[in-house]
Amino acid sequence: MPTRRQLLKKSLLLSAAGLCAGPRLALASAQPAPPPDLFDSQALDIEFWVKPRTLDLLRPATGERSKLLYWKDGEVLDSAYQQLCHLLRDVNGKQSAAIDPKLLETLWATQAYVARFGMSKPLEILSGYRTAESNQRLIEQGVPAARKSLHMEGRAADIRIPQLHEEVLGELIRSFRQGGVGFYYRPSASGGWIHTDTGLQRSWQG
Ligand SMILES: [Zn+2]
Repeated sequence: MPTRRQLLKKSLLLSAAGLCAGPRLALASAQPAPPPDLFDSQALDIEFWVKPRTLDLLRPATGERSKLLYWKDGEVLDSAYQQLCHLLRDVNGKQSAAIDPKLLETLWATQAYVARFGMSKPLEILSGYRTAESNQRLIEQGVPAARKSLHMEGRAADIRIPQLHEEVLGELIRSFRQGGVGFYYRPSASGGWIHTDTGLQRSWQG
């Protein structure tokens, strides 16, 4: 039996191989070899955390995409923040809410980290803020949703990155040690997703 770690490395290599078909130049200009340890985000230096932050997000449900410089010199830029709150709104309940800047930081750090390895597709937001009514509707429909979901507080998002296996994505986010991580594996063509939130540090499989 291969170890879990070997499986993760393999899926990462497969992800990278998938990307090779297209953006060879992007890969060539990034680090040429597969990452020695994708999950060692604790080894990031201060340079990583202090540079200006741009988030590139896609909302598959509506087709909206926003690429925004939202943080610079230690401060969240208000106009970009408002646009990100709009993008992360409840698209069913048609309401937006203040999104926890710590959640944006996790999304940004995840994207910035994988970009180092040539993965530059927008990060897909399947679900961001949810009204209590929308959350209740999901529960009634049998969709995985907690009764006291942090989605209702603007502190959670369900995400995926094209061509990156959910487990690799989830393990990376977990390595930031910033909150909860839920792994939702689905064998369908559209794949699974990762839940990330700014609550207590914990992880689960749903
Ligand atoms: Zn979620």
